[in-house]
Amino acid sequence: MPRRFASLLSISVAVAIAASAACTPCFAWGEDGHKIVATIGTAMLTEDAQKALRELLGDESVADAAVWADQIRSDPQYDWITPLHYINVPRNATSLDMARDGNGGVQVVSSILKYRDILKDTTKSQDERRLALRLLIHFVGDVHQPFHVSYKDDLGGNKLTVQAFGKKSNMHKVWDSELIRRRLNDTKGGWATMSADLRQSVTAEQLKKWTASGDPAVWANEAFSITRMLYRDAPDPTTGVDDAYFQRWQPTLNECLQVGGVRLGTLLNDALAPGSVKAATDTKAAKSSKPAKTTKDEKSSKPAKDATPKQPVTAA
Ligand SMILES: [Zn+2]
Repeated sequence: MPRRFASLLSISVAVAIAASAACTPCFAWGEDGHKIVATIGTAMLTEDAQKALRELLGDESVADAAVWADQIRSDPQYDWITPLHYINVPRNATSLDMARDGNGGVQVVSSILKYRDILKDTTKSQDERRLALRLLIHFVGDVHQPFHVSYKDDLGGNKLTVQAFGKKSNMHKVWDSELIRRRLNDTKGGWATMSADLRQSVTAEQLKKWTASGDPAVWANEAFSITRMLYRDAPDPTTGVDDAYFQRWQPTLNECLQVGGVRLGTLLNDALAPGSVKAATDTKAAKSSKPAKTTKDEKSSKPAKDATPKQPVTAA
């Protein structure tokens, strides 16, 4: 229980809900996070899966597809998508229970399963499968953002007001975008370079471990264990989220993005080109110190020439 936040929660519930509803990115990895997960994942695709993905997306970049589900939030016809970005867990729970937390299937875990099946089903229309693809690229990112597997009473950390790097923020937003933005301050080339760095530092052991389960309920449980650690390590209200917090949690942040990307790649290979999964696994960047093939999206975001991989990231 984040008692240190209690004194900060003086805003009324109504105001907080209205504020968070008006703040679209507060419910998901920010754009950078989604693009990073998406490009780590699609760099793993086999040729067949890449071809199938391109046929569905046409000229739409993977990066654009990754943020589509956030960009349509102001369009009422897509209101049904809003509760699919996250899953709520009771405050006293130590793990997820899909019978208890399933919300009738209206949450991120069952949505990943549902849209994976639609994407896989070639008897479905192109439009249905394109929607499924966009949602999957987005939701697999979301389920690896710890505050998307969190508590209803504080709106997944949206009501946990905190100072972050000298500005008013909240813990959901900190993990959506503030920490990534802080990291990007040190990264020439923006999100594309950060994505390439993270992808290239995934080891063979990590790849094996992270792809051991394709069950999004397992993924959500892992995210929830991180969520619980984050609540136990709530920033001091006086100092807020500062460089010390960033340094402490950066390895975990990196790993959330890496795991999300690796699992997305595995899922898309299976859904778009069944049978090609093993080939994709064997082409992992971990076996080579050379940068993997640059994706169209990475090229389009014009990464700086200085894309030298940084030190391998270790798990927290
Ligand atoms: Zn989202």
